[in-house]
Amino acid sequence: MSHDRYEMVVGLEVHVQLKTRTKAFCACSADFGAPPNVNTCPVCLALPGALPVLNEHAVELAVRAALGLGCKIDPVSVFARKNYFYPDLPKGYQISQFDRPLATGGWVVAGKTEKEAEIRIGITRLHMEEDAGKSIHDRYPGETAIDLNRAGVPLIEIVSEPDIRTSAGAGAYLRTLKQILQYLDVSDVSMEEGSLRVDANISARPPGQAKLGTKTEVKNMNSFSAVEKALEAEFARQCALLDSGKKVEQQTLLWDAAREAVRPSRTKEGSHDYRYFPEPDLRPLILDPKWIEQMRKELPELPDARKRRLATEYGLSPIEVEQLTAYPALAEYFEAVARASGDGKAAYNWVMGEVQAALRGSNEEISRFRVRPADLAQLLNLVRDGTISHTAAKRVFAQMVDTGKPAAQVAADEGLLQVGDETAIATWVDEVLEEHPEEARRYLAGEKKLQGVLVGFVMKKSKGRADPKRVNQLLSSRAR
Ligand SMILES: [Zn+2]
Repeated sequence: MSHDRYEMVVGLEVHVQLKTRTKAFCACSADFGAPPNVNTCPVCLALPGALPVLNEHAVELAVRAALGLGCKIDPVSVFARKNYFYPDLPKGYQISQFDRPLATGGWVVAGKTEKEAEIRIGITRLHMEEDAGKSIHDRYPGETAIDLNRAGVPLIEIVSEPDIRTSAGAGAYLRTLKQILQYLDVSDVSMEEGSLRVDANISARPPGQAKLGTKTEVKNMNSFSAVEKALEAEFARQCALLDSGKKVEQQTLLWDAAREAVRPSRTKEGSHDYRYFPEPDLRPLILDPKWIEQMRKELPELPDARKRRLATEYGLSPIEVEQLTAYPALAEYFEAVARASGDGKAAYNWVMGEVQAALRGSNEEISRFRVRPADLAQLLNLVRDGTISHTAAKRVFAQMVDTGKPAAQVAADEGLLQVGDETAIATWVDEVLEEHPEEARRYLAGEKKLQGVLVGFVMKKSKGRADPKRVNQLLSSRAR
């Protein structure tokens, strides 16, 4: 399908649940997964006379997120009531921020891999708000159940400028944003648990035209790839309308993942007048500029800075640091191994190879991985000083994963300590030459390329304990 006559223009609204213990305006637990309606109280149930009290930790996390995204924090922001009727919104309004948001004017630089071009996407604003409850349509046939555990959970909404031009660009922006939020440690950013949700505003216009076309809003996308697919589908729909001389109607659409198509939302959300007004039960949020500066100083190391530092300190390539910094716990694990072993390259190879494979196998998180960085570093040191061979090290590692025992102990218990002893190696070589007479004859007659095969036989016979360098030397000397 060719849409060369039109350019895609996309802005994204990302809702992120903050990692607080309690809700935004009451002391109820903000945990995910509790039985329905357990985490509720008069405030989040909207009982008469109940008053909201702002969660200080939520403010800290929102400010940290805004600073990490390069936003300017307004020392005075105002909570506002966003009025609308929905069954899972007991108050009949949501506490949000409207004309005085917490922060404005940040940016994200996305897509710096080899495949993607670099794009800079502006952040229009970042504001605080509370989540609504959840309507459950598939539990009781013909009825809708309401779970208010999520009502009042603290969110930030990050609104981007319409700077995105392709569906892949939208994906790159979301992946980068998610990574930054992970490094800032402000949210679990789990789309499965609903702690990161994306709405997209999309329009089409002829390339070169400055004026934006009429936009539609697409909701209900539950993965980054769904966002990319939904944008492609909606762009194609708008292009077809424009091509046939029709107009794009401003409306809210829902992504239907099963049909891979957009359909109009039943509620006319586009036509909503939310009748915003300042929340009378909460005072304006006033932040001390000194405190904001202190928060800025305390920001953790962000992905770009960490990539640059790891590349310099451990002599790694851009692709290697890209892999290692995918999420903070992985980068931290790698760095602990690299520091303790003093060998960045070996640490990279092991972490991205054996460690990742073991984690995939057991579906474990690296932060809970049985082989701690110091243990892996010890294994790397045993390989480097020749105590065990590389082949044996893989077997030792497998045992460490299974038993949690230290590397040196496993190597000793399993009899995997490397044998550099000439006599022992000579015996293995002799045995191999005897057991493989045809290869031996050809090799000794000058067929050099068979040396690798014979070394392999010796390594196998010695169960990985023979020092391969010595084996090679010995075989070479026999061939002469
Ligand atoms: Zn509550």
